[in-house]
Amino acid sequence: MAIRKVARMGHPVLRTPARNLTNEEILSPDIQGLIEDLHETMEEYGGIGIAAPQVHESLSVAIIDFQEDHPRYGDQISGGASQIIINPKITVLDETLQGFWEGCLSVPDIRGFVQRPRKIQIDFLNEKAESCTVVAEDFLATVYQHELDHLFGVLFVDRIEVKPGESPIMFLEEYQRFQVEENPE
Ligand code: ZN
Repeated sequence: MAIRKVARMGHPVLRTPARNLTNEEILSPDIQGLIEDLHETMEEYGGIGIAAPQVHESLSVAIIDFQEDHPRYGDQISGGASQIIINPKITVLDETLQGFWEGCLSVPDIRGFVQRPRKIQIDFLNEKAESCTVVAEDFLATVYQHELDHLFGVLFVDRIEVKPGESPIMFLEEYQRFQVEENPE
């Protein structure tokens, strides 16, 4: 068990599609240990999800873990979610786009406004190599899509649409000053 160092934007591991695991690998001490490390690292950095490439392991494993009362996101969700996701396949159930301000442990102190489909289905294996299906909508759908993008070498900044006169990407300090304080929802 260990807190791992988080890879930051610019490190090639974040741009490399992660490889799928076999059932045997999933049940191995190595991968079970990696899952524990992901939990510890996420907790240490204060995230609500983390993917293996973010700790320099190009493997298709991600976790999502947050509670309704999370200090940063508690007002955007009802109910918590805790999931270990391996070898996911995503199907969009509702293409209607919804936008949220996103952050990422690998892109520290930056917030970006990203629009994503509002409802998706994820077929994946859990930590016991059992087949699972989850349907996620609203903010939760964004959380899953952000995390699973990491397994395909995609970062949230890739999905920000920049238009003249708008500022959909901000430093955290300016985000808090100009977006949160001046545009309270
Ligand atoms: Zn991220």
